[in-house]
Amino acid sequence: MVSPKTEEEVALMLENGMLVSRTLAEVGKCIAPGVTTNELNRVAEAFIRDHGAVPSFLGYNGFPAALCMSVNDVVVHGFPSDKPLEEGDIVSVDCGTFYKGFNGDSAYTFPVGEIDEETKLLLKATKESLYKGIEKAVAGARVGDISHAVQSHAESFGFGVVRELEGHGIGRKLHEGPGVPNYGRQGHGPRLFEGMTLCIEPMITAGSRQVYLARNGWAVHTCDHKNAAHFELTVVVRKGQPQLLSTFDFIENQNA
Ligand code: MG
Ligand code: MG
Repeated sequence: MVSPKTEEEVALMLENGMLVSRTLAEVGKCIAPGVTTNELNRVAEAFIRDHGAVPSFLGYNGFPAALCMSVNDVVVHGFPSDKPLEEGDIVSVDCGTFYKGFNGDSAYTFPVGEIDEETKLLLKATKESLYKGIEKAVAGARVGDISHAVQSHAESFGFGVVRELEGHGIGRKLHEGPGVPNYGRQGHGPRLFEGMTLCIEPMITAGSRQVYLARNGWAVHTCDHKNAAHFELTVVVRKGQPQLLSTFDFIENQNA
């Protein structure tokens, strides 16, 4: 059973969402060729703990770090490492916090230095598909309306939509119902109601949508080793238009 959050609960989730958003921005400031994803992971963990929160991914089903760091052909769930980022790479940074009994969860794919034009388009289209999905997160609509909006936008560029992983409800637990696939049919799936809190997170590939799981049991790679992008925000379903509980403003707007 998925139940609506109270306004008090939504307020606590907004605190988590803002902390995750600020953490992603702190990480983003440090991203450059030569920096390792382990270094970035340490920046994030310190920032989260300095704000009295816990990095919720650390130890989650045995995950070894505060951040998922997914470089280039890794779609999601990459481990941070001591391998330096290189000019032209992209890195998906996925961050979770646990604070005052609730969770925050968001992700952003950053360019490392200058990236090629096709990859720029991949990042732009993936982020746009997230916002197209978010627009549909209104009371009375269905999960499939979100899914269809994400899929149709991403596929209009000829990009692939990963099907093996999906968005999710969020609250006291990091992953709650309902699942929010990035592909689907309008008018299908669970009904959305006011106070439902969702993570919408398109995972989009430059080439084929086929993926495989690495031997470590975590990292999801594209089979053709082309780049993949991943953007995630948390929203609360409202009547008329959804309310964002996390934001990319701290990353994209220096004055935020
Ligand atoms: Mg996430
Ligand atoms: Mg998530």
